[in-house]
Amino acid sequence: MSDPYQWLDQSLQTIHQAHWHRRVYPLESPPGPVIELGGRSLINLASNDYLGLANDPRLKQAAIEAIQHWGTGSTGSRLMSGHRPLHHELEQVIAAWKGTEAALVFSSGYLANLGTLTALVGKRDLILGDEYNHSSLQRGAQLSGADYETYNHGDLADLEQKLLKFRQNHRRSLIVTDGIFSMDGDICPLPGLIRLAESYDCMLLVDEAHATGVLGKGGAGCRAYFDGLMTANFIQMGTLSKALGSLGGYIAGSNRLIDYLRNRAATWIYTTGLSPADTAAAIAAIEVIQQEPQRLEQLWFNVHYLKDHLAHLSHSLLPSHSPIICLQVSRAADALQLAEQLNAKGIFAPAIRPPTVPTSRLRFSVMATHTLAQLDQLIQALS
Ligand SMILES: *Cc1c(COP(=O)(O)O)cnc(C)c1O
Repeated sequence: MSDPYQWLDQSLQTIHQAHWHRRVYPLESPPGPVIELGGRSLINLASNDYLGLANDPRLKQAAIEAIQHWGTGSTGSRLMSGHRPLHHELEQVIAAWKGTEAALVFSSGYLANLGTLTALVGKRDLILGDEYNHSSLQRGAQLSGADYETYNHGDLADLEQKLLKFRQNHRRSLIVTDGIFSMDGDICPLPGLIRLAESYDCMLLVDEAHATGVLGKGGAGCRAYFDGLMTANFIQMGTLSKALGSLGGYIAGSNRLIDYLRNRAATWIYTTGLSPADTAAAIAAIEVIQQEPQRLEQLWFNVHYLKDHLAHLSHSLLPSHSPIICLQVSRAADALQLAEQLNAKGIFAPAIRPPTVPTSRLRFSVMATHTLAQLDQLIQALS
């Protein structure tokens, strides 16, 4: 009898041969700057929990109280039985923070991008995306059915050429970009993107997964980071699952945009509302970020400390405007070996390889809760 699943063995073998195979590492401790892994304590440079909020007692308490009051599940789609006052509160808090009229909370950032891209554009339309965009933006663009063109990473001249070439043949057009590029750590050229979007009658969506809670005054993100953009009109997407230490995604924008998405974004309509615990934890996180600006200051102090002490490696570091710092390594196998060597020195920082990124690298993410002694240990290990 033939085995219709046999091709899986061949595919896995190909993945192994390319040194692209991945597996999961069960962390045996709560999230934090030090984690337990394989029975050892390691300094954690692989977390998106930039502000150290994922194990904060106030977020945990908010989640526990939400469960005690509202139960564990939302029990239905937001449009059916799944909408709670907590969701409304979180959406208002996000909108106020981001300086928009409204916001809409999805069950994950990935779903926010899939749902929004597929709702905003379709067959007669055009999406232009940075070549290094996150998987959720790339898949969303493909799923939307729009013509999808990529432009060279951060390259406004290339984007403009593609606009000149393709824009006029399409009804609507949407430019999509990571705000902070998740596997590189650099920032999108937002003022130029806004200018091009205006000149060519395009919508613009900026994915602030790694900028929310990290960039700009009060952690409000890319718009707050660049001077003079506070009134710029573009779609701000982000997650609750990185600096906010919870789970979920959001879109912040105008009332009409949010009203439209509530009617057309399939990944919001046909899925269960965010759990009460996740919703309450995210509200608590935004409160903590606003009440304790010193967390953000400490994060950036740590980022600058590490960058200053790695200056001698600058030829191998990718440009970074964020807590994400990447050390380029030419081959995937070398990246794996380096990650193992760091692990032996007590440091957890996995190798990032194709197909996630075009070139292999070690990726370090700095947290506000790293001590200087912990960062020193990384600096020493690397030198
Ligand atoms: C993590 C990430 C997402 C997905 O967010 P989740 O809430 O984890 O689903 C989307 N975009 C970018 C750039 C990300 O880094």
